[in-house]
Formats: sequence, structure tokens, C-alpha cells
Amino acid sequence: MKKTFNADLHFHGLYSGGVSKNMLLPVIAEQARYKGLDLCSTSDITFGKWLQHCREELVEESNGVFKHRKFDTYFVIGTEVECKDRIHHLVFLPDFAAAETFRESLMGKGNLDSYGMGRPKLRMSAQEVAESVVDASGIIGPAHAFTPYFSVYAHFDSVKGAYGSMGKEIGFIELGLSADTHYADMISENHNYQFITASDSHSPWPYRIGREFIKVELKEPSFKELCKALCERELAAIKLNVGLNPKEGKYHCTACNVCFEKYSLREARVLRFRCRRCRGTIKRGVRDRILMLADAAEGQHPEFRPKYLHAIPLAEIIQDALDVKAINSMGVQGLWREFVDRFGNEINALIDAPIEELGKVNAKVALKVNAFRHGWVHYIPGGGGNYGKPVICNSKEEFERREKELGEQLECSSASRGQSTLNEF
Ligand SMILES: [Zn+2]
Ligand SMILES: [Zn+2]
Ligand SMILES: [Zn+2]
Repeated sequence: MKKTFNADLHFHGLYSGGVSKNMLLPVIAEQARYKGLDLCSTSDITFGKWLQHCREELVEESNGVFKHRKFDTYFVIGTEVECKDRIHHLVFLPDFAAAETFRESLMGKGNLDSYGMGRPKLRMSAQEVAESVVDASGIIGPAHAFTPYFSVYAHFDSVKGAYGSMGKEIGFIELGLSADTHYADMISENHNYQFITASDSHSPWPYRIGREFIKVELKEPSFKELCKALCERELAAIKLNVGLNPKEGKYHCTACNVCFEKYSLREARVLRFRCRRCRGTIKRGVRDRILMLADAAEGQHPEFRPKYLHAIPLAEIIQDALDVKAINSMGVQGLWREFVDRFGNEINALIDAPIEELGKVNAKVALKVNAFRHGWVHYIPGGGGNYGKPVICNSKEEFERREKELGEQLECSSASRGQSTLNEF
């Protein structure tokens, strides 16, 4: 019997740099239940101490799928590595023995156990990393494929090209927080790949883990079934991609790294990527990078491609409804907990539960969730390292009114603004 799993297959444990000290398996496993995630990656498995932690905390449930001793969350063994081509890769492995084999193949090619190296930097090409993964019976694909640093499309014009003779082994790409299906499918090569949406979270709280995830259908929870689901597109086993709107990504628009002024790519080139306001560096945005490579008609998708749902974490919706500054304030967290207790987990409350039922917990939040489900949300796009921001409206009327009010703020760069700048030169 097939079952659908909510899976978040990319985050980092506490031994990675800049990660919450709470990123430990028991906390992740418990918080994943509140979020409504069924399946996670262990992440960071090549780091010796984390590997040890995983061995102690997880028990094998069936064929390459593990469970935490205390909680029901499933885990598969996985990691992220950086190669000398400056690409990040997502890797999944069948069991602990394979993790040891893979780790050994990297020995002497990177500082696996230095503090902060949960995601090791390897002196290996993308092709060599892929060879090591396949030798360990694992699967590999590029992580956050479109971000301007450390991604396949930052440095190569095609995924296949980046992996050399191992290009044929690639079955999936991770979209990353800055892209969605709409953008990724504008590059026709990507019609060959399945898309993973995952959080890349550095903290375990449910407004971080699972902020991006996939709904994936498996015959049974096993590594083999997961491989098939991620790599064999004719199965169409990925049923839904859930993720942030790419406009929320911090490199969506081309913008100044210092003052975040946004530019059109044409304008940035005229200015030789120097900000006209502060002389900071202008960083090319994901949107413009994709438009440079785009060779497929907008809105064209392969048959197996699932829908992409733009989601906003429930805590952010509550924060907005209550109009408070801190997402971890007692008010927001208390109400979040009430919703989760009432509806079982966050994903159910956010996506599936009837609005009338949500209204019994809090009317203002129910109104915002209703608006979110209708798509009455504007986004002020991010860029230059500054996150974008959703503007959640309460009704269709408000949505239309705010669109007029926000005007140019909703664009990466307006034609008029670009024009006036060009006139200055
Ligand atoms: Zn990465
Ligand atoms: Zn990562
Ligand atoms: Zn600037």
C-alpha cells in the first residue's frame, strides 16, 4: 500500500557552522512531529561526531530507513558536501556502512572533522564526488541549484556539464529557497529532473524546519523506495513541492550587498556592479540568472511535475495576525501550540483543516490562513542578502488595494527606475 510522506531532506546538525545548539536528533525528531514531517535526512553524516550521535539515537526500522528511539519520525542517511567546483551537493546513502565507506573515500580530501565542517569542503570535482557517492550505493544531486554562491548554476550553464561523465546519474535537483518550479522549468534541461524542496534549516523550530518540504509517495518507507521516488521521474512519486515564494529568498533580485538597492541586470552592468548609492557590490539575483539561461516557454512543465505550493510558516502568519515583532514571543508560540494541539500538527492546520475550525482557536489567524490559501499575499522581493517579505492581506479587496499602494516595491526593478538611471549615464 502506498503512503504519502512529508519529507524535509536537508538541514544541518549542531556541528555545522552557525547552527543552533538545539540541532540534535531528539529535538529535531520531536519538532518534526509538531510540524507534520514524517521523513527527514540525518544530514551531516560525514562528520565523525555527528555520525556517532546518529548511531546512538537512531534504530533501523526497515531497509535503510531509521527511527528515533523516542519519536515516530523516520530518518534516511544523508549529507551535503562542497566540491572544488564550488557546488554544494545533496547526498543520500543506504545505511551506516555506506556512510562509513563514503566517509573513508573522502579522507585526505577535505577536513571532515574540523569544527563547522558538517558540510565538508572537498578537494574533489563534482564528478569525483558523484563517483564516490555511487561507489557507496548512494544518490546525489545539486543542492540549492540556483543560489549565487556555491551552486551548480552559479558556475555552470548546465547540470549535466557540471558532473561530466557522471551527469547521467543525476535524477533530482534541490531548488533552494530562492527558486520554485515556475522559475526552474524555464531552463529546459531541468525538465529532466525531479525537484526537491527542503529547508536547509539551521534550527529545529517549526518555522524553520519544514519551511520547504516535499510530499512523496512511497510503497514502503525504505531507502530503495526513496531512491526510486527521487530519481525515476516516470513514477511521478513526488506529489507536491512546498516552499517559500522565491521572492522571499535573499538573492532573488539583483541588488546591492550593502544597502540592498535593487537594479535591473542591464542597469547593474552599466554600473559595473557598483551601487550608485553606496558604492557597495551589486550581486546578480537568482531571477536574472534564470532569465539569462531561460530557453523554455514560461509555464511549460514536464508531465510528471507536481504543483508547487508557496507556503508561509504558521508562526509567521500568527505573528502577522497579532502584529508583534518577535516570532518567538510567548503570545505567538502559545497560540501556535494551541493550533498544533488542536489539529495534530502545523501542516494540517495550515493546509488541510477547515477555516471554521481554525476560527474557533483564533479568528484573526483563521482569516490570515484563509487569505494565504487563496493566494492573497504580496511579496516585497529580497536581494543582495536581504530576505524578501510577505504582505498577507485579509481579503481579495485588501489584496487589490495593497497592490496599488505597494506599486514598485513589488518589483525587482521597475522599467521607469531603470530608464531614469540610464539617462544619468
Ligand atoms: Zn549548501
Ligand atoms: Zn545546507
Ligand atoms: Zn548600495
